[in-house]
Order: sequence, then structure tokens, then C-alpha cells
Amino acid sequence: MKIMQVEKPGELACVTASAPCLANEHSVLIRIHAAGICGSDIAIYNGTSPVATYPRVIGHEFAGEVIETGSACTHIHVGDHVTVNPVVACGTCRVCQKGRSNVCANLEVIGVHRDGGYCEVISVPEANAFAVSKEMSWEKAAIIEPYTVAAQVASRGGVQAGDTVLILGAGQIALTVLQVCKLLGARVIMTDLVEERLQKARTFGADEIINTGKEDIEARIFELTDGMGADVSIDAACVGKTLQQAAICTRSAGVVVTMGFADRTVPITELQITKNELDIRGSRLNNDKFPQVIAWVESGALDPTRIITHHFPFTDVLQGMRSVKEDPEHTMKVILTFDEK
Ligand code: MN
Repeated sequence: MKIMQVEKPGELACVTASAPCLANEHSVLIRIHAAGICGSDIAIYNGTSPVATYPRVIGHEFAGEVIETGSACTHIHVGDHVTVNPVVACGTCRVCQKGRSNVCANLEVIGVHRDGGYCEVISVPEANAFAVSKEMSWEKAAIIEPYTVAAQVASRGGVQAGDTVLILGAGQIALTVLQVCKLLGARVIMTDLVEERLQKARTFGADEIINTGKEDIEARIFELTDGMGADVSIDAACVGKTLQQAAICTRSAGVVVTMGFADRTVPITELQITKNELDIRGSRLNNDKFPQVIAWVESGALDPTRIITHHFPFTDVLQGMRSVKEDPEHTMKVILTFDEK
């Protein structure tokens, strides 16, 4: 079979490899039908991922059909259409025992720490495979994962119906967070420097938009929240300054959620945190959010296809990455397709 492997930063090769066997009796073998390209795949290719190791078959957003199951598998069957949770946790460390397996001390992410989905057949633990309706399109199933990331952000923020949520940034990840927050009944204010992105956020349901290149974010947020500040602020732009803005624009006893992975220092004062009893919480990957997101998609409450803008054969992943780089305003989710053999 063909695999798309990052040999080392900047070098991606289409390699012919033998198809894998089941890794063990608790694994399932999946023939992949669709995959998504994520910013973190591009970071692994570019060599800017702080966590990836090489060589690596990338891809952590994918779906396919189960073609074999291990003898100890209990709930996934041959023929099932499945989407895959890339989070592999040990289940035994103190973090896992506290119920926070997505930040497990021995965390392995499929497509980051172990080989991922830009290949034709993959073996994954049964526990990571989630059956979806056979009516669901492969591309929809493949991008359940980014919505589990958004659901995690909303959950870390404690977003509830009636909350005012400030989302800093209006790129693709921000739009998935927006869709989930709207689904949960929140009022959402989005910020960005690019007017086109803000207008797109409007069509995705943003209640208010602030162009921070033209308007004073702090003044506008306090005006829109009767002087209180947002209940929850989510830094989806992750450029440093946006985290500062989040801390300033959040009400007392509110929550700030970070998604960035940069090794940078952001000035936030003790006073801002202590005076308001501000909670600043990181959000990474997802903690058991697949069942919820699958239910949202199957009920029609959430439409993941709204973020899809491009399709490429999976062996053209570099071309897909290039369109993200060269035309970021018009490229959101790129879907990789696989030959139906
Ligand atoms: Mn992703």
C-alpha cells in the first residue's frame, strides 16, 4: 500500500509499504476512505511541532471501513464505518485515573507519536474506533475529530446556554468552536484582523464581530456585555496578544481557554488573575468527546461539511498543504480522498 511519510522536517515521501496486520487482539484494521489535513499535520511536515518524532506517517483525522477485528474486540465489527479518536492514553497513570486521559503522562497521538491515517490501511486500538451511521459521508466522518477538539474547548470553558463567549480569531479552528458554542446556546462574539474572515464567521452564526484592526476590543466587549466582560474567552488565534486580550475581556469568575502550542511568554498580571479569580485553562485534543460529536452530526444539529473547501487525492497531500499556505483566506478544511479499490 501507499503511505505518505514525513521522513524528516520538510521531506514528505509517498512510500510503498506492506499493508499492516492487526497490532494485537484488541485492535481493528481499517481501510481508510477519507482524511482531513490539520494545521498540526503541516507543523509536523514543517518541523515546528514540539511533540512529533520522525519518520512519521501523518494524519489524525480519518475514517474508513473495518476489514478485520482482533479476537478480543467486543463492539466493533467487520463492515462498520468508523471514525478514529487519535488519543491513545495509558489508562493507568495518575492523570488518566483523574479522568483526564487526553493529557495522559504517556500520551501517544495517532499521526503524531505513532503512524497515522495518510495510508490505505491502518491498525488502531478498538477503543479508538467509533462506529458511525453508514449513511454518513466519509468526509463528514473524517472530520469528526476537529469538532471533538472544539467540544473539548467548550467543555474546558464550561460554556453553557446563555453565556457570552468571546472567540479571538476567526480562522478555521475558531469556526468549529463557534459552531459548537452556538449549538450549546451561547451568544458568540468573534474577533479578527481580516474582514473577510469576520464576514465568514457571520455566516457561521457569530452574533457580533469585532475587527480588532479598526476597533478597540476592550471597549467593544464591555459595551456588548453591560460592562461585565465575556463569561468565557477562547484564544483561537494563539498569537500571544490574543491571550492578553482574552484575560482583559473576561468577567470576574470567568474562564479563559488557551489552544496555542507556542513556547512564548505572554504578559498577564497577577492582579488580573487574582482580583477576578480568573480561570485560565488549556485545552488539548479531546477527552471522550467522540460520542457527543457523532450524535450531533447524526442528528443534523452540527454540519461539519461547512468547513470543507478543497479535495485532493491523498497522495497529493503536499498540494493540499500548499493551498492552506498560499490561500489561507479561502482554504479551510482540505479533505484527502482515497481510491475506492
Ligand atoms: Mn486536527
